[in-house]
Amino acid sequence: MTKWMNKPISELHDALVRKTVTPLQLVQDCIDGVKADKGNCFEATAFDQALAEAAKIDDVKPEEYLKGIPFLAKDNFSTKGVETTASSDILNGYVPLFDATAISRLKRAGMIMVAKTTMDELAMGGTGTTGHKGNTPNPYDPERIVGGSSCGSAASLAYGIAPLALGSDTGDSVRKPASYSATVGFKATWGRISRFGLFPFATSMDAVGFFTRNVLDAGYVLSALSGHDRMDMSSSSRKKEKYETYVEKKKTLHRIGYFRAVVDAMTDPIIKESYLRLLDRLKERGFEVVCYDYPEKLLDALYPTYMILSCAESTSNNANLDGIRFGPKPEGTIETYSDYMRKARTRGFSDLIKRRFVIGSFSLLSANQAEMFNRAQKARRLIVDEMNRFFDSIDYLVVPASYGKPKKIAELSTAWSLKPDFLDNILTLGNFGGYPSLTLPLGFEDGLPFGVNVTGRIFEDGYVLGLGKEIEELTGLKDIVKEDK
Ligand code: GLN
Repeated sequence: MTKWMNKPISELHDALVRKTVTPLQLVQDCIDGVKADKGNCFEATAFDQALAEAAKIDDVKPEEYLKGIPFLAKDNFSTKGVETTASSDILNGYVPLFDATAISRLKRAGMIMVAKTTMDELAMGGTGTTGHKGNTPNPYDPERIVGGSSCGSAASLAYGIAPLALGSDTGDSVRKPASYSATVGFKATWGRISRFGLFPFATSMDAVGFFTRNVLDAGYVLSALSGHDRMDMSSSSRKKEKYETYVEKKKTLHRIGYFRAVVDAMTDPIIKESYLRLLDRLKERGFEVVCYDYPEKLLDALYPTYMILSCAESTSNNANLDGIRFGPKPEGTIETYSDYMRKARTRGFSDLIKRRFVIGSFSLLSANQAEMFNRAQKARRLIVDEMNRFFDSIDYLVVPASYGKPKKIAELSTAWSLKPDFLDNILTLGNFGGYPSLTLPLGFEDGLPFGVNVTGRIFEDGYVLGLGKEIEELTGLKDIVKEDK
């Protein structure tokens, strides 16, 4: 176990202010952790840049919460001078000329990027097994998944390699792996954090997210990341806030809702009991806890709707990956541009990606558009309208972030189930409506973590974090690392 990197930002910051440690020591500690990694967490490193940046910092003031602290970034954030592949062969050799806004804002706050983390290829998938470097398993049980697509970010926090890792969340890619790794995972309101330089997957749902060890750290990180960016047309010009104050003062709203259908469908007795107990304890704390009958047929529509829309957007967004300037070169004689592209893409993408592009292309085909793509858009509208009705009178949706133990890698299957489990897809609600959404630890079952998720109205990110703090106090679960690594 590394000496510093298993601690939250809050503690590292205090140590930097008191000068019991230097940024250089922290960065060195993080580098040691990255080098010792046995969990396949990393795609690329930026050790020299990081050491040079750390050497420049000689003083950290109490108000400079993030300054001098190392961080990691999922490999779909563009990073100047550091190879960025999104764990896909098609991007092998791509070295961006600029930093994504999320990266430059953290750097502006004085943070130091040390390495890039593995992911499911191009952020599609939820298992941490589809990237070109192979499996990134669960630190708590290497036979099981840590979830994805932000697998390397989640796992490296659990291993105690860094106190912050950026991720991206289009369906649940930060909030689900956070549940499986006993970390805090947050996705902000769509438009709150600039997506400039984040490789697009499904633009209408993509959000920058991140993993921390506690809710207070998440508040500070959100403050540094949020705010308008003229490089991202969809970034909000709404005034940014000091999100950490919501956490420090436990500023919350009053009414918490849960779905009857969710409680009825839960089968894991330990997770169900912990979840219901949490709702009871929130009631004891003075919150009003109400049951909402969100229609089950809309819950059943989550998965097909998500697949049609995300695959369609992704097919279009990734059409630029032609393998010409980077990626695997096709073999044999090439007659035409499209011949080259077809061969390069055949070599460069894994099966999962190809399958998703087939779904995307099929649903966008003019003959199918009305039946598939347009229908999915209508379904999304109904899903979001119903969520907005929920938010007319209720301030938060609280659901379990996962519903059983993480799956065993050997038991993963690519077969389509006829009736997908809505429990497994419920976090996509946060992306359909662009809501702020937070996962934090709720408990352990046979040594494997599970989390709880809080979702709020758009731009009520602060209040979501405020309730997160309440829950963190109730569970007492914070600053967790897998100790014996
Ligand atoms: N698991 C979802 C998928 O397979 C979510 C991915 C994401 O949020 N990037 O697409």
